[in-house]
This record gives sequence, structure tokens and C-alpha cells, in this order.
Amino acid sequence: MTQHSQQLTLALSKGRIFEETLPLLEAAGIKVSENPETSRKLILPTNDPNVQVIIVRASDVPTYVQYGAADFGVAGKDVLLEHGGEGLYQPIDLNIAKCRMSVAVRAGFDYDTAVRQGARLRVVTKYVQTAREHFAAKGVHVDLIKLYGSMELGPLVGLADAIVDLVSTGSTLRANNLVEVEEIMQISSRLVVNQAALKLKRERLQPILEAFEAASKRNA
Ligand code: ATP
Ligand code: MG
Repeated sequence: MTQHSQQLTLALSKGRIFEETLPLLEAAGIKVSENPETSRKLILPTNDPNVQVIIVRASDVPTYVQYGAADFGVAGKDVLLEHGGEGLYQPIDLNIAKCRMSVAVRAGFDYDTAVRQGARLRVVTKYVQTAREHFAAKGVHVDLIKLYGSMELGPLVGLADAIVDLVSTGSTLRANNLVEVEEIMQISSRLVVNQAALKLKRERLQPILEAFEAASKRNA
């Protein structure tokens, strides 16, 4: 095989996913040569001339990998559920960027009673698919309103009764007078691999996947 066909591109997002993937890369002998928080470059070289990292929005990682613009990437379960996972092989839960997806309401709003009485709830969320499935499974009628950020504001200004969002410490909810009333699921980030790359570049990918898997067990 030519050298070019064994070039590997890894898609990561800035922030916690990049930070928490670094130790896994190091376990595979890969060191990223620049820090995306200070560099403006979107393509970062590594100590391995055959491996490069591209920096994309967290919700765009599955798309780059699906179309083969990246061979592999790291994405949250939240993002993967919304994307749908087409064209992606998801071999490993990396046990990083852990949080939970929950329903929260304004303090004083009686969520349980509203649900029991069959009220129709307005819910703001970035996670429309996952929220739709959750409420459908519970038999709760909802009007879902898609937002791209600052979901916490929705109930405070009368846009919605509830939010579906990611929670880790709960401090953002508390700061906005919201209360977590239901956990939908635990979230962590997964390795995703382009299905064609997995076959064509197996020789190069396999040792990296094995190193990631071994290192991520320590985060479990
Ligand atoms: P942006 O912040 O650029 O709008 P984003 O919110 O999708 O995009 P991050 O905040 O870096 O990007 O989140 C990336 C992933 O990390 C999420 O998809 C989720 O899986 C996980 N995550 C998000 N919030 C938390 C959190 N508070 N604690 C732990 N993991 C989180
Ligand atoms: Mg964020």
C-alpha cells in the first residue's frame, strides 16, 4: 500500500474531548504538536507523520467520519444519537467526557403532577431526537423546540416548561433556579471509525484502537 493511503486523520472537538483524548493518544504513542486552544490551525500535526488531528465542532465529528474526511473521531453519545450513526463503526466507549442527559424544570414547577395529569409540555433542547424518544416511551405529550445553546433560559422567560440538556455538576442548573427532575441517560464519549477506513487502513488503525481500548478501561 502507498504511504498516502495509510495516512490517518482523527477528528476531535476543542475543549474537554480534546483534553481527555490526549492521554489515550499518548497511550498509542501519539503526541499532538500544537494546542488547539491557542493555535488557529484546524489541522494539527502529531509526532507521527502519518497521523493528523482535525479540529471540528463536537456535533460535526460524526459527519466528518461518516464521509471519510476523517478516518476516526471522538464524539459524545448525545451527539451520536442525534446524528444517527450512519456509516460509523462504534467499537469503544472511551469513558471520557462523562455526564448525564436530564430533564430539568423551573424550581416550583411540579413536573411529576403535570406528567401524571397528562399535560402537554413544552420542552426546549438541542437533543430533539433523544428527547422525542424519551417522552414517547413515557407516553408524555410534548412540543419540542430546538435550541442551539443556553437551554437553561427557556423556562425562565416562558419559552418552555422544561429543558432536556447535559448535566455534570448541576451548578449551571442551580445558578438559573432550575431543578433536575429526571435522568434520561448516562453520557460518555465513543470512538467512531469510518467503515471503509476500518477495512482499508486496518493495519494502521488496529494498534491505535487497541491502545485506546486498554487506556480507556482505566477511566471506567
Ligand atoms: P459548543 O460548546 O462548541 O457549543 P458542545 O457543547 O457540543 O459545543 P462541548 O461543550 O465541548 O461541545 O461538549 C462536547 C461533548 O462533551 C458533548 O457532546 C458531551 O458528550 C460532553 N459534555 C458536554 N457537557 C459536558 C459536561 N458538562 N460534562 C462532561 N461532559 C460534557
Ligand atoms: Mg458546550
